[in-house]
Amino acid sequence: MPTLPLPFDETRIRELTREYPTPFYLYDENAIRTNARKLLAAFDWCPTFCNHFAIKATPNPHLLEILADLGFGTDCSSLPELLLSRAAGFEGQRIMFTSNNTPANEYIYAKRSGAVLNLDDISHIDFVDQHAGLPDLVSFRYNPGPLRGESGNKIIGNPEDAKYGLTREQLFAGYHELKDRGVSRFGLHTMVVSNELNGSSFVETARMLFSLAVEIAQELDIRFEWVNLGGGIGIPYSPEQQPVDLETVGRGVREAYEQIIVPAGLDPLGVRMENGRVITGPYGYLVTTAVHHKHIYKNYVGVDACMANLMRPGMYGAYHHISVLGKEDAPHDTTVDVVGSLCENNDKFAVDRQLPTIDNGDLLVIHDAGAHGHAMGFQYNGRLRSAELLLAADGSVRCIRRAETVADYFATLDHKPLEQLVEPSAD
Ligand SMILES: *Cc1c(COP(=O)(O)O)cnc(C)c1O
Repeated sequence: MPTLPLPFDETRIRELTREYPTPFYLYDENAIRTNARKLLAAFDWCPTFCNHFAIKATPNPHLLEILADLGFGTDCSSLPELLLSRAAGFEGQRIMFTSNNTPANEYIYAKRSGAVLNLDDISHIDFVDQHAGLPDLVSFRYNPGPLRGESGNKIIGNPEDAKYGLTREQLFAGYHELKDRGVSRFGLHTMVVSNELNGSSFVETARMLFSLAVEIAQELDIRFEWVNLGGGIGIPYSPEQQPVDLETVGRGVREAYEQIIVPAGLDPLGVRMENGRVITGPYGYLVTTAVHHKHIYKNYVGVDACMANLMRPGMYGAYHHISVLGKEDAPHDTTVDVVGSLCENNDKFAVDRQLPTIDNGDLLVIHDAGAHGHAMGFQYNGRLRSAELLLAADGSVRCIRRAETVADYFATLDHKPLEQLVEPSAD
């Protein structure tokens, strides 16, 4: 197994555990900044390029502030995510509200805050008009369904089975209707892939949206301010996989722009994306301590984190690389399942994984947990969400979200005061 570089060593983490008991998340600000700048550089040919970070990946305002500082926007789909955007300093059109099955109060708030309303269905024209009033600028989410297959490119996920977006016919009808109702500014959006490692897929999406924007603009005589290619750039969870080359993607999208948008007279057209995972995923680590060993029909290492802290392995069978701190170079000659403490047998971070011999007290680092990690946490079985720490650009570490306590767990119950329970007496 290859050794993956870490921005910290065992000594540093041992020191941290004196103040912050494991399990905890640790995010690497320098790496997030460096990588985010790479994405921006790949699209520097487009002066208005913006990546709207999909907040659901890592909904922490301290991390969002870093991205605000770099000129990112956000992508939200709920009221709390809209509030987080504003808490972190995002305003107006920097915020894309790409929701679905949206409650009226969220459209009302999104419109009031000046966010871009990206409608997920043609029926939402009436719905927004009735509840919030249509804003000057409206965007639609396009679902190409079977049409996307024509490219012959490998596609992850099948848009035909996805609940999102409008069909092609609905798009034409929808923009027509908006124009009739006095909307004068338009965006066009799609999101068709997830965790995609094939960079050409994003160029394909750009070609699809550029061509569609030209067709709609010409037929309806409207002008698009931007198209949004969605997110979905994948990350190499397994050490054998390669990251997407962002520069190549940027160059490919530029070529498509010059071939399709420029000759049609739609230049300048803004290009936007909505990547979450590729921005923070590789730069967040879940740190946990080995606490038990068990040998029955298989060999188990029990750690103090569980699926409630990171559910991707349990939910999707997703691979997450694991390093044992201080033993990175030791032979990986034992085969174990690394498990949490939920009464659910899919509560496993690794199955039949070759690792160095682990002793109780060893610190394990679960890699690539920086997106859809802590955010998907839950309290099942009375397991609580962990702290989130930031390894800041200056090398210091600060807590950006404290660990939950039993008091948090009881906070929504109107029942006996917790103080009566916490000091159990035998009689
Ligand atoms: C989840 C999501 C994204 C971000 O996806 P990543 O895989 O994190 O890049 C972008 N847009 C929408 C609408 C989403 O639901």
